[in-house]
Amino acid sequence: MTIGIVGGGQLGRMMALAGYPLGLDFLFLDRSAEAPAARLAPLIAGDPDDPELLAELARRSEVVTFDWENVSVSALKAAAAGTRIAPPLRALAAAQDRLSEKRTFERLRIPTTRFAAVESFAALTRAVRRIGLPGVLKTRRLGYDGKGQQVLRTPADLQIAWARLGDAPLLYEEFVPYDYEVSIIGARGRDGSIVIYPLNRNYHHEGILRLTLAPWAAPRLARAAASSLTRVLESFRYVGVLAIEFFVRGGRLLANEMAPRVHNSGHWTIEGAVTSQFENHLRAIAGLPLGQTATRGHSAMINLIGHMPPAPELLAEPGLHWHDYGKEARHGRKVGHCTLVETGIHRRNRRAASLLARLYPQLSLRP
Ligand code: AMP
Repeated sequence: MTIGIVGGGQLGRMMALAGYPLGLDFLFLDRSAEAPAARLAPLIAGDPDDPELLAELARRSEVVTFDWENVSVSALKAAAAGTRIAPPLRALAAAQDRLSEKRTFERLRIPTTRFAAVESFAALTRAVRRIGLPGVLKTRRLGYDGKGQQVLRTPADLQIAWARLGDAPLLYEEFVPYDYEVSIIGARGRDGSIVIYPLNRNYHHEGILRLTLAPWAAPRLARAAASSLTRVLESFRYVGVLAIEFFVRGGRLLANEMAPRVHNSGHWTIEGAVTSQFENHLRAIAGLPLGQTATRGHSAMINLIGHMPPAPELLAEPGLHWHDYGKEARHGRKVGHCTLVETGIHRRNRRAASLLARLYPQLSLRP
């Protein structure tokens, strides 16, 4: 069976790595012939929204999926008519627009930040009056890793933020002085079965995920997060892997956003769970039984940002799992990750802290 994947980044590449043992084949569509997945599988190079290229991808695949969220829903729908697409485009459309995403959470009674749609300066003024300051003004579309966002702290910030972001549809939401961030990842199969991984605790710097610890032992939060995830999966009759990110404040979860795909905070599942998120995504979309999500220990996943550190030095670390995405070095770019799986929480945290100190000596981020 050939899986067609729109986007050939590291997520697609890790899907292919997980899928070959299942006997699956892959075909990618990516803007760049040098995308990380290109070394593993055939790749159609060109605009991922081009109807003809999407139609070619669909024609040559049994199922079409995506590793990238900003694919055009209408182009994909038109081009892939007749080919199975998973996850469902309704879920992709909801996740692409922060307003529909918030409304989805509201509809499913999943607590989220207070928000208002903003399409004019007057609407921004009204939103700030209702929700208060500080708040965050975000573009409804195409935001990731904190891009397309502006924190508003004083009335003077309204003009500045409007000048920066005002030419796109926006969303204003309350600023949450959260205690920390967590995420939950799970998969729903074609037969409606659902599997959910344990809760992840995520540490960001400058909007980019640096460290994930899993499982994060907060049973009440884990149950609440799993219940939210289940509601989203069922409401979209979802097929594939889905992730939801939450803020934790005073022991309560507030949903921040969802990703209709495999997620960076789930990379630890490659070595730290019985079945990885990548394999479970493929099992789901290929109509195969889902794999167990039980953990194999206590995992720490550290993103490698900007450039790959010297491999020999880090590979000398006992039990360190190394993932080089084959990308060119660039400031702020995710070029790889590494994972440690330990038998105990304390040892996992100690080793993660010492690795972080070596990799990012300038950051104060510690488990
Ligand atoms: P997002 O693109 O929505 O995931 O936001 C990226 C990062 O910005 C989050 O991980 C938070 O650290 C921060 N952030 C986003 N929205 C808010 C908010 N409403 N309150 C506080 N911090 C936020």
